[in-house]
Amino acid sequence: MRLNGKVCLITGSGSGIGKGSALRFAQEGAIVIINDLDRAKGQETVDEIKQRGGSATFIPGDVTSPAEMEAMAQAALQTFGRVDVLFNNAGISGVGALHELELEQWDKVMRVNIAGVFLPSKYLLPSMMARKSGCIINMSSCIAEIGLARRASYAASKGAVLALTKSMQVDYAPYGIRVNALLPGTIFTPFVENYLKNSYDDPEKAIEAIKSRQLSGELGRPEDVANAALFLASDEAGFMMGSPLYIDGGVTFG
Ligand code: NAD
Repeated sequence: MRLNGKVCLITGSGSGIGKGSALRFAQEGAIVIINDLDRAKGQETVDEIKQRGGSATFIPGDVTSPAEMEAMAQAALQTFGRVDVLFNNAGISGVGALHELELEQWDKVMRVNIAGVFLPSKYLLPSMMARKSGCIINMSSCIAEIGLARRASYAASKGAVLALTKSMQVDYAPYGIRVNALLPGTIFTPFVENYLKNSYDDPEKAIEAIKSRQLSGELGRPEDVANAALFLASDEAGFMMGSPLYIDGGVTFG
């Protein structure tokens, strides 16, 4: 098993890619710590992992709250003694061209998508540095590399996550910590379903348009990103440092 006995904390793992990754990590022998704002969804992921014979525990918390993220790190370290892998996955969408946005909308996307990487990392890095070992996976998006209509705040936030990943890697390489980023294309999750519902009169037509942009001709599935996250979390990716990993059906370079 590729993550046997590794303690892996995944933020926003009550749904979508985070949930898919939690199930996949558990299948590979990880002890998974589920974090989410939504207690019911977080608990559902834990229950599903346990039903399949895996190991999981839920620590609720908002990735934008310093107090809650410090408490989450303390609880994880008290219970398991270490966190081997931190997957900063939680994120929200933001729709609108720049002139259409209010500062509050802009700030909210930045807070969840960027501070939501900063805070869990801030409170877990000291223990990784002390152990001279650790792996951090940050959720960016292929939108960090390609222009898409009316996604100004979301694109800016995911570009920042990519830049932050590279900067973190330089700072923490001396401590034996790897920091890499995932850049998914369009993955069919509740996040995308809601975005399509709220942004288009005909979501089905929008899905067809997105599919036609991808070389794969299909939208991605949470499992596609989960498999890439699994690779980054495993020792197989030991030589990957500060790298962007694209799981995008060819939309970025195709
Ligand atoms: P999702 O909406 O299905 O799941 C996100 C989860 O994060 C939810 O359970 C939600 O409750 C949780 N969450 C939101 N805000 C939180 C907070 N402040 N604190 C803790 N938990 C919080 O979304 P998804 O599609 O699985 O997306 C997961 C990540 O992948 C996001 O960062 C997203 O930007 C990124 N991403 C998604 C796609 C895609 O097409 N789905 C593409 C590229 C990147």
